[in-house]
Amino acid sequence: MKKRWAMAVDTRRCVGCAACVIACKTENGVPNGGFRDWIAQEVRGTFPDLSMEIRSERCNHCSRPSCVTACPTGASHVGEGGAVLVNRSKCAGCKACIAACPYGARYVHPAGFVDKCTFCLHRVKKGLAPACVETCPTRSLAFGDLGDERSPVSILLRSRRSRVLEPESGNEPNVFFLG
Ligand code: SF4
Ligand code: SF4
Ligand code: SF4
Ligand code: SF4
Repeated sequence: MKKRWAMAVDTRRCVGCAACVIACKTENGVPNGGFRDWIAQEVRGTFPDLSMEIRSERCNHCSRPSCVTACPTGASHVGEGGAVLVNRSKCAGCKACIAACPYGARYVHPAGFVDKCTFCLHRVKKGLAPACVETCPTRSLAFGDLGDERSPVSILLRSRRSRVLEPESGNEPNVFFLG
């Protein structure tokens, strides 16, 4: 079976420490003002029965990525294991992909190209976990191959209820949130 990289984010474990954000910036040389991952907070319920969800977000490496469809140069493309990537040398900096992404997952690098989460494929190819996954002190993040039933992500998705963000976008995200 073909690989399908995916991530699971356990919102019950996340404490919002942003270690995943710092790890990503360090690992990937993300410049000041740019982010490949970020922390979202969502208040739910009605007063006085309120709860707050904290979660680490990034590109969803969608199965139907509107960013790729929108890109006029082919710079945005689907890479190994379904990871959605940007070929910097082909990027014209037109920002069509930024407008087309419903998740705000991309930013303009000061060097003129658009950048985003790569699922740290440079690490994954060496058998390492993505930097954010490895760093998280509460083990809120899991990464793996959806096509492998023994992968950490497959095991979590079998045993826990999960959801994706804005399923109505039709993009079919591959980052799953465990509540
Ligand atoms: Fe949450 Fe882990 Fe990121 Fe901290 S490092 S914000 S606990 S996902
Ligand atoms: Fe593209 Fe946005 Fe989906 Fe990432 S989250 S693959 S940038 S549409
Ligand atoms: Fe494609 Fe680059 Fe334009 Fe985005 S900014 S749509 S990656 S050429
Ligand atoms: Fe950043 Fe890698 Fe995590 Fe993506 S997988 S958010 S590039 S550390």
